Amino acid sequence: MSSPTFYVEANPAPVAANERTRLLADPGFGKLFTDHMAMIRWSDAKGWHDAKITARGPLMLDPATAVLHYAQEIFEGLKAYRLADGGIALFRPEENARRFRESAQRMAMPELPDDLFIGSIEALVKADANWIPDLEGGSLYLRPFMFASEVFLGVKPASEYLYLVIASPAGAYFKGGAKAVTIWVSDHYTRAAPGGTGAAKCGGNYAASLVAQAEAIREGCDQVVFLDAAERRWVEELGGMNLFFVFDDGSIVTPPLTGTILPGITRESIISLAREQGITVREQAYAIDQWEADAKSGRLVETFACGTAAVVTPVGTVKSRDGAFTIGSGGPGQITEALKARLTAIQRGEAPDPHGWVHR
Ligand code: PMP
Repeated sequence: MSSPTFYVEANPAPVAANERTRLLADPGFGKLFTDHMAMIRWSDAKGWHDAKITARGPLMLDPATAVLHYAQEIFEGLKAYRLADGGIALFRPEENARRFRESAQRMAMPELPDDLFIGSIEALVKADANWIPDLEGGSLYLRPFMFASEVFLGVKPASEYLYLVIASPAGAYFKGGAKAVTIWVSDHYTRAAPGGTGAAKCGGNYAASLVAQAEAIREGCDQVVFLDAAERRWVEELGGMNLFFVFDDGSIVTPPLTGTILPGITRESIISLAREQGITVREQAYAIDQWEADAKSGRLVETFACGTAAVVTPVGTVKSRDGAFTIGSGGPGQITEALKARLTAIQRGEAPDPHGWVHR
């Protein structure tokens, strides 16, 4: 399929305007969905075909659909925002398109061309523009995903796939805004091993993280932090966010992309913004013991997590089986707040965008 033209089917039963207004007053996160979805099929014989925007609704799947057995599935997450001038923007969707292709490669799936990825999102956002919440911190969260739709039992790459995009109006991710979170160090479970799928955004990675996240909640924490699988020593990332460490000399460290952590688009944006402000950023392995020692000595002054959903979130306290330590004041730090303000201002079209990150 050469050009991303999306056939738009009307939804025969969209949510009524007054009901939509009521729902959008408090959308929460991930529980409310729009009227439409984008869909493209792929088969060995035809390649990508049948691109359309259609009424959002249940999928009919044969019980032998390959994804239900072998988890050949990948996804992405990005947001559409309402800008101050009334326009609508996406943040660096080309990067999501690239990561989606890279995830597809890792999971032996066909790569969706970037123009189809971005075209599908643009077409869906246009069809459901009236679902973008008009709230502080509000956005339309977009979830592109692809799965093995072939009806077949057997461990091999499928010969048919379905790509879809759904959209979910969202308020602020963590209730209470930029409150610092408490995180739990998983000493038993790991997220990704060398040679594994850690750098791919595949559903299986998240399934494997759930038991560790549940342990974190039981221990009174908000999120889990994973260590490397080989030595159980190096800090990798949270279940759904990358980590940054800020030192008293003003420099910043973030774990390097060695294949076991997800290459976050927020992470990459923060590295660029920090370097432009003259901050030294090192992509360097950081040990859990060092983290504790540096927090206690005061050499480490801030830690924050970042990702599309919550943008930038301060980490206040780190808990493990051996005890707990607090970073800085335990609340949001200066550099964390400044980087967050800078990034969100660009995203919302309230600051110049020299990198061309904002995609109208
Ligand atoms: N790590 C993991 C495991 C994630 O799921 C996410 C969310 N996609 C991130 C990091 C942050 O990535 P991004 O900034 O692209 O949202």
